[in-house]
Amino acid sequence: MNVLLFLGPPGSGKGTLSQLCIEKLKWRQLSTGNLCRKHIAQKTKIGNEIDFAIKSGKLVSDSLIVTMVKQWFDQVSISDNTIIFDGFPRTLHQAELLEQLVQDLDNLTLTVVRFVIPKKTIINRLCERFICQDNECQAVYSMISGSSFAPQKEGVCDACQSILIKRSDDTKESIEQRLETYHVHECKLLDFYKNTEHSIIELQVDKPLQEIYTDFLGKVGVNKE
Ligand code: AMP
Repeated sequence: MNVLLFLGPPGSGKGTLSQLCIEKLKWRQLSTGNLCRKHIAQKTKIGNEIDFAIKSGKLVSDSLIVTMVKQWFDQVSISDNTIIFDGFPRTLHQAELLEQLVQDLDNLTLTVVRFVIPKKTIINRLCERFICQDNECQAVYSMISGSSFAPQKEGVCDACQSILIKRSDDTKESIEQRLETYHVHECKLLDFYKNTEHSIIELQVDKPLQEIYTDFLGKVGVNKE
């Protein structure tokens, strides 16, 4: 089993590249952000606990995130597949717990994919980002004029026809908070992974998706277009 850890700031396109890999390569994605939003929309106990933290751009506690990740692993069959971890681990503690979770799995290759992008591009992207309100879909769109990520019909998801909404944490204040938090933890995570046997790949993501995808496939050693 291959596990790819997508490590990148909010708005760097982790979800978008994941969607493309799911569609073209039939890979799986574990997005802790999607799981959090699903809990909030379904008003579960966890959802009520994390709603405020998410809106204000803070991280959810490591223990709740690890609970969600374990629940996800219990529900899916993951052998022989490539899984993208989108937005997990996000703290040093989560990375250490993940090492414990996977240490007994045979034939597991874990690779860190670091998304590199200028801050100005991120803020612009996030201010114009919309997502599908359907919890199972959560497809990402952009309202930036001329963007190839614009929906075909305004305000409607191409994939499932649900309404597009803004994420509650895509506000200027929350974006600033999330970027600051991200950079604090990114340094610690990179230091941690440099001291493991896992590879770290750097991906420049300030360019068209097709170019990113081709570059990504080359770097992770997949020959399918
Ligand atoms: P994302 O969709 O990955 O941008 O995540 C949205 C929000 O969910 C983050 O700003 C955090 O509040 C929360 N979140 C998602 N993944 C994690 C994680 N691994 N650890 C802590 N909080 C997380």
